[in-house]
Amino acid sequence: MNNGPLLPPHMPPGEAPQGAVEANQSKLAHINTYGDLPEFYVDYSFACRECGKVEVWTAERQKWYYEEAKGHIWAVAVRCRDCREASHGSGEVERIGESDGRTLD
Ligand SMILES: [Zn+2]
Repeated sequence: MNNGPLLPPHMPPGEAPQGAVEANQSKLAHINTYGDLPEFYVDYSFACRECGKVEVWTAERQKWYYEEAKGHIWAVAVRCRDCREASHGSGEVERIGESDGRTLD
């Protein structure tokens, strides 16, 4: 049994911290994770893959991405706004590692 974390770091389990945005799990039905769905999102700081600038992927934007754009749960922002605008076609988000060997697609 793998009891490691089943959700990305910006979807921490437990009590919602200040600034967290509540998830609407009925809009997350496209995520096939055997029952592990986020209860809320929190702001996520990341270093841009292109230029290294630290930017925040806000909880509100995550909610839009996962619930409206139907993004993959293990996809997170990897490029800052400037680099996204400079290189058309480069995505805002990219899939990161998964916590175990489950097939998530
Ligand atoms: Zn950048």
